[in-house]
Amino acid sequence: MKVTEHLAQAKGKTLFSFEVLPPKKGENIHTLFSNIEPLMEFKPPFIDVTYHREEYVYRQHPNGLLEKKTVRRRPGTVGICAAIKNRFDVDTVPHLICGGFTKEETENALIDLHFLGIDTVLALRGDPIKSEGVFKPEPDGHAYACDLIGQVADLNKGEYLDQEQDDAWATSFCIGTAGYPEKHFEAPNYGADIRYLKHKVDRGADYIVTQMFFDNEQFFDFERRCRAAGIMVPIIPGLKPLTTKAQLSALPRNFFLNFPEPLVEAISQCRDNEAARIIGTEWCLNQSRELMAHGVPSLHYYSMGKSENIRKVAKELF
Ligand code: FAD
Repeated sequence: MKVTEHLAQAKGKTLFSFEVLPPKKGENIHTLFSNIEPLMEFKPPFIDVTYHREEYVYRQHPNGLLEKKTVRRRPGTVGICAAIKNRFDVDTVPHLICGGFTKEETENALIDLHFLGIDTVLALRGDPIKSEGVFKPEPDGHAYACDLIGQVADLNKGEYLDQEQDDAWATSFCIGTAGYPEKHFEAPNYGADIRYLKHKVDRGADYIVTQMFFDNEQFFDFERRCRAAGIMVPIIPGLKPLTTKAQLSALPRNFFLNFPEPLVEAISQCRDNEAARIIGTEWCLNQSRELMAHGVPSLHYYSMGKSENIRKVAKELF
């Protein structure tokens, strides 16, 4: 079932959902299964699986010159979605990105997903490759998520890239897109970011999942601005329980977000990570309670490979 169908079926009740990362190359899928297992008692209707594009590393060649190598550390999103769906009988949502994909490769991935009975995708642009600094699309790829959304929407109408295609069939993907309560880091200002988000919805996005945030007022403000701009699709808040002191600087660095002062103060005073984990989980629980009372369609947790703290939060709520 599609994400929007799950939301409609819930009739206003807040659902529980979460995101997992594909295991690192060489690891076994059972590590991932054992992280998902403890969260299944809360009956998530869908689980997201992130997509990780290649990175570049430079190695010294025996001839002394530096060699550029392509490395993919977490491959396998499509296969992992199929494996989770089969193992837990739950819908899975693969993340699809523009970076590293030509339009033809995207179409092939969508056809594979259609065969597998996976009917929702989260369509994203992807971050720039770290060593490149700015996002570079493939020569025949998409520069923005709105164009990827457009391609999926076209395929839903039976419009293929391959004009020779003579089988009369169309996909019917539900399309999710990303939103940023604190603004995307490259957007010139908040208003422009909301306009681009509106454009993504106009091109075919059916629902929005937000970047993680730690101050609910930012979400409420974002939601108000979206509605004022005519964005009427469901908006699902993304949440993460803070688990280590180091995340106080790592999360802002990686996700361009701000922590509210009381949380910074409380975590800074923690003697160790165990104390930080207790405060981070409590903070996330309070955020979740308030968002639930506000009537959000789902609480979507970023597991980042760990389920223990999400489980603590979910146990209180679902
Ligand atoms: P876009 O919507 O294309 O926006 C990118 C920037 O361009 C923004 O600043 C926007 O304001 C601007 N913009 C948008 N459209 C236009 C336009 N038409 N013209 C000019 N400017 C425009 N990354 C991964 O690599 N893999 C993942 O699995 C993944 N999952 C994610 C899940 C969620 C819920 C979120 C919030 C993010 C995720 N990301 C993931 C990160 C995401 O790929 C990055 O934040 C990326 O930098 C932007 O992606 P986007 O889809 O928001 O891009």
